[in-house]
Amino acid sequence: MFDLAHVSKRHGSTVALDGIDLHVARGCTTALIGPSGAGKSTVLRMLVGLDWPDRGEVRFDGEPLQRQRLPEHRRRIGYVIQEGGLFPHLSAADNAALLARTLGWPRERIDARLAELAVLCRLPPDALKRYPAELSGGQRQRVGLVRALMLDPPVLLLDEPLGALDPVIRHELQAQMRELFAALRKTVVMVTHDVAEAAYLADTLVLLRSGRIVQQGSARELHDMP
Ligand code: ADP
Ligand code: ADP
Repeated sequence: MFDLAHVSKRHGSTVALDGIDLHVARGCTTALIGPSGAGKSTVLRMLVGLDWPDRGEVRFDGEPLQRQRLPEHRRRIGYVIQEGGLFPHLSAADNAALLARTLGWPRERIDARLAELAVLCRLPPDALKRYPAELSGGQRQRVGLVRALMLDPPVLLLDEPLGALDPVIRHELQAQMRELFAALRKTVVMVTHDVAEAAYLADTLVLLRSGRIVQQGSARELHDMP
C-alpha cells in the first residue's frame, strides 16, 4: 500500500533518514521500533505527507505522493499522536467531528458516527461532551482514535499511541487495539519504542537505528535471528 524508495531526509545537519526502502502491506499492522531519534516519527510523517524526502520517493498504491493532492491523501489516513493530539479548546466530540464538519456532513450523520465509534473505541458517551483536560489519558487516546476513524479511512498511522499511559491502562488499551485492528482490517503503521507492544500488535516489525532499517520481519523471525 505504501512504498518508501531510497528515502533520505535531513533536518539541518541531522540525518533523520538515510536511504530507507520500506514496503507497507495492505491490511497488515507494521510497527516501527528503535531508539529515540532513529527516524521512526519521520517515516510516519512522510506517509501522512507532513514531511517530504530530500531524496527518494514515497508512493501510495504505486503513485508518488503529490503535494497538490495532499488533502485527498489525508482523508485516506487516520493519524493519531500521543495523547490523541486533541485541540484543548474543543470538546472531545468537536475534536472528533472537525474534519467531517469541514466536509459538510449533516449533523445527524456526524452524531450517529460519533455514537458508533464511541462504542467501538469503548468511550463512555458522556466523555464526548468533555474537554480534553477533563478526560483521563486513556480517554484522550480513545478520542484520538475516534477522530482518526471518523471518515473510515483505509489507513491508520499511530505515533506512540500508548506512550503516555500508565502500565495498567496501557495493557488494557493494547488488548483492545489488537481486537480493533483485527475487526477493522485497516492498514496500520505504528511507532513504538516498546518491543513487546510491537510484537503483540504488529504482523511486521521494522527496527530502525540512526535513520536506517537494521532488521525487519515478524516477531518470530526477529526473535530467531542470531
Ligand atoms: P524517532 O521518532 O525515532 O524518535 P524522529 O524521526 O523524531 O525519531 O527524528 C529523527 C532525527 O531527526 C532525530 O535526530 C531528531 O532529533 C531529528 N529531527 C526530527 N524532526 C526534526 C526537526 N523538525 N528539526 C530538527 N531535527 C529534527
Ligand atoms: P513546507 O513544507 O514548509 O511548506 P516547502 O513547500 O518548501 O516547505 O516543501 C518542503 C520540501 O518538500 C521541499 O524540499 C520541497 O522540494 C519538497 N516537496 C514539495 N512538494 C513535493 C512533492 N510533491 N513531492 C516531493 N517533495 C516535495
